[in-house]
Amino acid sequence: MKKLPVRQLPVSSRRVFVRVDFNTPIDQHGEIADDTRIRAALPTIRWLVEQRAIVVLGSHLGKPKGKRDLRFSLQPVAKRLEELLEQKVVFAPDCIGSEVVQLLRNLTRGSVVLLENLRFHPGEEKKELPFAQALASLVDFYVNDAFGMAHRAHASTFGMPRFFAQPAAGFLMERELDYLSKVLGSPTRPFVVIIGGAKISDKAGVIKHLLPKVDRLLIGGGVAFTFLRAYGYGIGKSIWDPNLMDEVEKTKNNPQIVLPCDVKVATTTDGGDAKTVEISAIPEDAIGLDIGERTVAKFEEIISGAQTIVWAGPMGLFEKEPFSNGTKAIVEALGRATARGAITVVGGGDTVAAVHMAGTTEKISHISTGGGATLEFLEGKTLPGVAVLADSE
Ligand code: AMP
Repeated sequence: MKKLPVRQLPVSSRRVFVRVDFNTPIDQHGEIADDTRIRAALPTIRWLVEQRAIVVLGSHLGKPKGKRDLRFSLQPVAKRLEELLEQKVVFAPDCIGSEVVQLLRNLTRGSVVLLENLRFHPGEEKKELPFAQALASLVDFYVNDAFGMAHRAHASTFGMPRFFAQPAAGFLMERELDYLSKVLGSPTRPFVVIIGGAKISDKAGVIKHLLPKVDRLLIGGGVAFTFLRAYGYGIGKSIWDPNLMDEVEKTKNNPQIVLPCDVKVATTTDGGDAKTVEISAIPEDAIGLDIGERTVAKFEEIISGAQTIVWAGPMGLFEKEPFSNGTKAIVEALGRATARGAITVVGGGDTVAAVHMAGTTEKISHISTGGGATLEFLEGKTLPGVAVLADSE
């Protein structure tokens, strides 16, 4: 079911709360180290400004644990947002209370205000009703554009929207839901999913949910070693998860699953002695840290025939140069697939970082901002922050 888009709200001259995800990294000089998340919210903010609404932005930043801790102030974000929007952004010293009410009263149409960190109040993460109500009383409409927080039932994502008749989705939220629903619901085939990364526990639900839907499931990264071990291979000192062995073992003869045939190993993560070996010949003292060249070629070939591709989790320890090859090759293969008309969706924090490293962000159809939210969506879970939004007619 499609969610009510912000475009359908009569917002002119009204106060509109937008839950954004401005949880951005800030360096020791108080500067924004990466403004991707701020940029991602610009289409919704700009549209509301054009409609002459009064835009009231709410976000969390870091983990101040329910206390006012200015190390986690959103003030630097307000400054960066002002530069990006090329208009004044009023910064409110708190997110609720009489001072904020007074400040909002004095704003004219088309103004943008950023409230101080929602998590300075314990009520945010504890989903306390009075806090949600205090936020709701500030505004006429509620919009959620923080897809990355949609899996969390907090006051601003779950409690607050219930005070409104038409809680709506911002442009970013809408785009995320459109892409992810499309790839899950009616993917153009062949549909290929690529799973990697270190933590198989994060990915097990996704694998289980998607396996019956995919034409091929390519498995690389640290995740591959739990599979290889469960299928009877020696994996040396590679990472693996004992808790998921039984589950993984059941997939042994599944023809959809494609595992690496060779891997790049080394005795330390520095990679001084890195070499490629067949999966049947991983030395006992070696750690598998990337997929090998033959695996890259095999994965590339499968990707080149796919029409829908979803990728979560890097193929190796890509942050270290000797082990970045597999991940880079997949980024490039996805770029080529997008260019010939396939739909490519990349999700999960580290995978996004890997795509940025390869510098090909514009060559992917959709880079999901979600991290955990994206993975939970791909697992088929209902995200509370999405479920609470009004349905579109
Ligand atoms: P995750 O958060 O589970 O997606 O894991 C991402 C991290 O997995 C990245 O920092 C990668 O460096 C790391 N990673 C990928 N493959 C391996 C591997 N074979 N061994 C250890 N770490 C890996």
